[in-house]
Amino acid sequence: MRIADRVERVPPSGIRRFFELAEEKDDVISLGVGEPDFSAPWAARTAAIDSLERGRTSYTANRGMRDLRTQIADHVGRYDLEYDPDEEILVTTGASEALDVAMRAFVDPGDRVAVHQPSYISYVPGVVFAGGEPLAVPTRPENDFELTYEDLANAGAENAELLMLCYPNNPTGATMSRSELAEVAEFAVEHDLMVLSDEIYAALTYEGDHTSIATFPEMRERTVVFNGFSKAYAMTGLRLGYALGPPEAIRAMNRIHQYSMLSAPTTAQYAALEALRSCDDEVVEMRNQYDRRRRFVLSRFEEMGLDCFEAKGAFYAFPHCGGDDERFAEELLRQQNVAVVPGSIFGVGGEGHLRISYATGLDDLRTAMNRIEAFVDAR
Ligand code: PMP
Repeated sequence: MRIADRVERVPPSGIRRFFELAEEKDDVISLGVGEPDFSAPWAARTAAIDSLERGRTSYTANRGMRDLRTQIADHVGRYDLEYDPDEEILVTTGASEALDVAMRAFVDPGDRVAVHQPSYISYVPGVVFAGGEPLAVPTRPENDFELTYEDLANAGAENAELLMLCYPNNPTGATMSRSELAEVAEFAVEHDLMVLSDEIYAALTYEGDHTSIATFPEMRERTVVFNGFSKAYAMTGLRLGYALGPPEAIRAMNRIHQYSMLSAPTTAQYAALEALRSCDDEVVEMRNQYDRRRRFVLSRFEEMGLDCFEAKGAFYAFPHCGGDDERFAEELLRQQNVAVVPGSIFGVGGEGHLRISYATGLDDLRTAMNRIEAFVDAR
């Protein structure tokens, strides 16, 4: 079989390997997957069913249903973002497709893409598949994993063409306030970087409000914002996301999308439309539950003396376990039947940490934390 070099350059997902290990055992509590334990709000599911009953099973416009784009434009107003539904919004098959298409639309062979780390596992492969060169920008636990001007300068990000940004962050749960983000915007403008800002966890911000980097002066014209329905609306399996950007950027992305995907899943678009129209209360309810679990998990880590920085967004905690995190995670799984993800999977700076997803019910979370405590005490 003839496999392209750029595919061979990317190893299989480390998270998957870990879950195969977990599946071999019974009674495992998984704090591993980055996926809500809730189902999509009922109104969204009903809208999907209703669309099927009415026989709405055709393609939609390449860019997505106009009603949905209008509703998205309205929705993102809460983050002070203003985008034109006809020219500046692309509905995609999950934020994943939007990210993939963006890499292919904006990265030429050899272009450098700065990726702050630890970060979501798909960014670096996405850059490589597009023919680009990933440039790791480590963030530091002493800065609560927030990206600083200094981090960017130390990593030589001024030589990059693009910056991949993700706050609230997977895997650290870090968020960035307006004043902190201003430094990143300043760096991007100074060094003429285009910014790809993955804001899929925007609605899951527990302290303060989410700020988009696209709201800073001179940033809107150099930024594409990514969001979707997987996290806030618990719709991972419906595969729906979107990108917001200047007309030229969205046109370029749509050029690829219209050939490779044609249009995002129609049934999911009906669900998403209803989710935006009527499901704010459910989102708030889920967020409140995540927040309760977040506080619980952080307090338990404190009790067991495991250093854990105060995650303020998404649904992850990122405790410091010290030493070999892969070994820690494997032994924890073997001895105590709790699956977590080793931090080193998320790139530079992740070593010695674990990603704990608290998108798991409080009962299981309680048992899992007791097991982690037993494991830590026995070491
Ligand atoms: N970005 C981040 C930071 C994520 O954590 C995820 C899902 N794990 C995605 C994007 C992909 O989301 P989607 O389901 O919309 O493709």
